[in-house]
Amino acid sequence: MTTTYWCELAWLGDLGGAVEQSVTLTVDGDRITGVEAGTTAAADAVRLDGLTIPGLANGHSHAFHRALRGRTHGDAGTFWTWRDTMYALADRLDPDTYRELATATFAEMVQAGFTSVGEFHYLHHDRRGERYTQPNAMGEALLDAAAAAGIRITLLDTCYLRAGLDADVELNHTQLRFSDGDVDAWAARADQLAGRADAHIGAAIHSVRSVPSEAMSVVAEWSTSRSAVLHAHVSEQPAENEQCNSVHGCTPIELLDARGVLGDRFTAVHATHVTDHDVALLHSSHSTCCICPTTERELADGIGPTEAFQAAGVAMSIGSDSHAVIDPFEETRAIELDQRLASLRRGTHQPGELLHIASASGCRSLGWRDAGRLAAGALADFVTVSLTSPRLAGTDPVHAVAAVVFAATASDVQHVVVGGTVVVADGHHRSIDVGAELSCTIAAVWS
Ligand SMILES: [Zn+2]
Repeated sequence: MTTTYWCELAWLGDLGGAVEQSVTLTVDGDRITGVEAGTTAAADAVRLDGLTIPGLANGHSHAFHRALRGRTHGDAGTFWTWRDTMYALADRLDPDTYRELATATFAEMVQAGFTSVGEFHYLHHDRRGERYTQPNAMGEALLDAAAAAGIRITLLDTCYLRAGLDADVELNHTQLRFSDGDVDAWAARADQLAGRADAHIGAAIHSVRSVPSEAMSVVAEWSTSRSAVLHAHVSEQPAENEQCNSVHGCTPIELLDARGVLGDRFTAVHATHVTDHDVALLHSSHSTCCICPTTERELADGIGPTEAFQAAGVAMSIGSDSHAVIDPFEETRAIELDQRLASLRRGTHQPGELLHIASASGCRSLGWRDAGRLAAGALADFVTVSLTSPRLAGTDPVHAVAAVVFAATASDVQHVVVGGTVVVADGHHRSIDVGAELSCTIAAVWS
């Protein structure tokens, strides 16, 4: 079925591309079939006032962390003490509660303008650490949740085998839920996951802490043989670098490189504390980096070297990770604003570059290379941001991209289309009362 949209303003997704006016978008099934600027709205066209942009990609998510929001700020501490609270939450989930919580979380995402998500999934087993009768019950719950919420998903099935680089530390009670015991058992279980419409299956190495170096090669081979994307948490904390250096005599990225993990389907998540040599390795291997600024703030991780990534030509994406907030505009502008604070200079990352990071570059990291732009043949994923709220009223069309990147919030998203289906209209999810569902499912998890 063909649907015609008429966009008051549209940014088509090209780096450096200008905002176009009066753009007719033609959609047939799940694809865009035509884009034409300077048009008059056809009588049957759906009118989209505001700025329409390509769908935004949430490159890194742990859906269940949404239930932590606001519950981790009361005490001082570090990433490691925050992790204790996260483990207490993980302990409470089963496939049913996980499905409900993830559905509400994904619905919040799509209502905020994310049309795809990379779900970094490591909570595989039951509360005793044993396999469910259906070994992928938790992963299937996430795939069901994404389908119900109307978001495109790349499920990154995560290998997690040990508690740390120190071989003497045993997996704790919660970590047993993450581990398949050995990498071959991980691969056999992950093999049973099948993609669906609007869903890819990818792989993840939790971190150099949690996966022995020999096993990293097996995960890399698994993803290569399936042309699947592969992600890993990398150098989020200085302690990880120090431990890796003391055991392996190199950085985490150097270790991943030696094990054949880097490549054009690999994404290093965080990459906050990396060396010049690490950046060169990411560049030469065509790997990408996913920056998660609101989580990196929340966990006192530090500010990633996005200027160095940009200078080297390392592609970046954004992720809301722990969901301290879910707001693609807040993540996107933080890349530039954090650099301003660190460098005392403005303008390292231009508005169009930032929006490209949040759209096409993020889609690439999740294996959706034909999404993230408004062009004939691309997947019909797009988002319309109203320019009439107090935050954005008075926006000059010429500067609409900068206004949206630096001043919009998730609340300004009016209309979201994923794969040709209208998921959000007039600012509301069409099938889920997002606030009510979040309230209900989070209360149930903690009760
Ligand atoms: Zn993460």
